[in-house]
Amino acid sequence: MKKTEALFEKIYNNAPEVCCFAPGRVNLIGEHTDYNGGHVFPCAINLGIRCAVSRRSDGVLRFFSANFQDSGIIKYSKDDLSAKGSWADYPVGVIRAFGAFGYPIESGADFCFSGDLPDGSGLSSSAALEVATGTALKELFSIPVTPQEIALIGQFAENRFIGVNCGIMDQFASAMGKRGCAVLLNAETLGYKYAPLGDAAVVVVNSGVKHSLASSAYNDRRRECEAARGALKVSALCAVTPEEFEEKKHLIANPVCRKRARHAVYENRRALDGADALISGDLELFGQLMNASHESLRRDYEVSCAELDFLSETARSISGVYGSRMTGGGFGGCTVSLLKPDAVANYVEVISAAYKEKFGIIPEIYNITAENGAEIIKRR
Ligand code: ADP
Ligand code: MG
Repeated sequence: MKKTEALFEKIYNNAPEVCCFAPGRVNLIGEHTDYNGGHVFPCAINLGIRCAVSRRSDGVLRFFSANFQDSGIIKYSKDDLSAKGSWADYPVGVIRAFGAFGYPIESGADFCFSGDLPDGSGLSSSAALEVATGTALKELFSIPVTPQEIALIGQFAENRFIGVNCGIMDQFASAMGKRGCAVLLNAETLGYKYAPLGDAAVVVVNSGVKHSLASSAYNDRRRECEAARGALKVSALCAVTPEEFEEKKHLIANPVCRKRARHAVYENRRALDGADALISGDLELFGQLMNASHESLRRDYEVSCAELDFLSETARSISGVYGSRMTGGGFGGCTVSLLKPDAVANYVEVISAAYKEKFGIIPEIYNITAENGAEIIKRR
């Protein structure tokens, strides 16, 4: 955090009033279920975005990011918060969203961000940026919002002002994570419970393939799920159990929509079973559920790619690995694997060499720990 503070001082010539950290997240199981009214099972991670901020007496809002230094300081007036097509549209969207939730921001402010999440790789740097902004604003202006509300505000900003039709998982994990635990979240009701990871190691491998969540494929999946939901005449796909689905699936005439629905229904069950498995300490079962999740995303939901399939399959052949799957929206990004702590060093070596051999690059690898949601680090 010291580095972000020092950068703030250098850029703005005074010390920040508030510093906070918001984590990224990795989803262990339950992919593409959140917008289908189902469960997700992410944890907040030790990588994320730091934010230093101070009030200004005029109505000027200024934004700087250590990760986008070429953009320089981006300026807005509080009276004109329309998007400018830069990264700062995310924090500005959050400011607008506070207004929409009944907490208008009436003052100017200076913001400085710095992140250690790989950008656009499915560890949700965008949600970390939104939740960091929301947490900083709450503290700076003493706004009585809960962490859950900050998550909803972040999602609103991303949906309305960035144009990404994301569910609530990413922001919720970033705001509500708990050290050593994953959080089973019902995306429909926002009911949640924590499940301990025990001594399992979590390793994330970045395929280096950039996903674009806002791309047409994501919106296609949402449309296909909506069509399947309509055909089944249910409130949400994940309201259907696998048993009910098998009885009623003939109602979905379109075979593509039927596959999409099958993924959502079974993936929701896997998320529920996965949380139970962790709570009872059954890491072997959890790993099998992860592998099944990957296959379903690959064949039924069709959001994987050759690189992710290779990483997941190779991981499963390495000793000490409980399970491995793509994580995040898909079409690139990262895999997440659960393994025995003493198997990590060998896993890293083997998977790096295999990926290099097949795709010509050494993948970035992150040893992940499950951490708390956004926290204030310092207030003046
Ligand atoms: P992700 O899967 O990481 O959330 P997105 O495409 O949803 O990928 O969000 C990435 C975008 O979020 C970046 O292009 C940038 O606009 C913004 N962003 C992420 N991290 C930072 C950062 N540290 N500073 C400024 N903007 C950031
Ligand atoms: Mg994102």
